[in-house]
Amino acid sequence: MSHCPFCKKKIAMSKAFCSRGCKDNYFQLIAIQIPKLFLKRIYQFCTPEEREKEVEEFAARHKWRLDLLKNKLEEEAIAAGFIKDPNKES
Ligand SMILES: [Zn+2]
Repeated sequence: MSHCPFCKKKIAMSKAFCSRGCKDNYFQLIAIQIPKLFLKRIYQFCTPEEREKEVEEFAARHKWRLDLLKNKLEEEAIAAGFIKDPNKES
């Protein structure tokens, strides 16, 4: 068995993704590039309300899906130490 790289569901070895939707989402997610300065600014100098607005504008400007962008931002913010991983106890 292998895993769908987007949703992590188990799939047959012969398949690369579990669905067409996962394939599209996966490649859109890879295309999303987040500048370090943008990440730093929204997590260190913005209130949650300001951050929400910045992220929405950022998604609209690049025509990226907001939910995918938010996932990626959260991942990178955790990796950079700006926020704690909600799935990990510390
Ligand atoms: Zn999937």
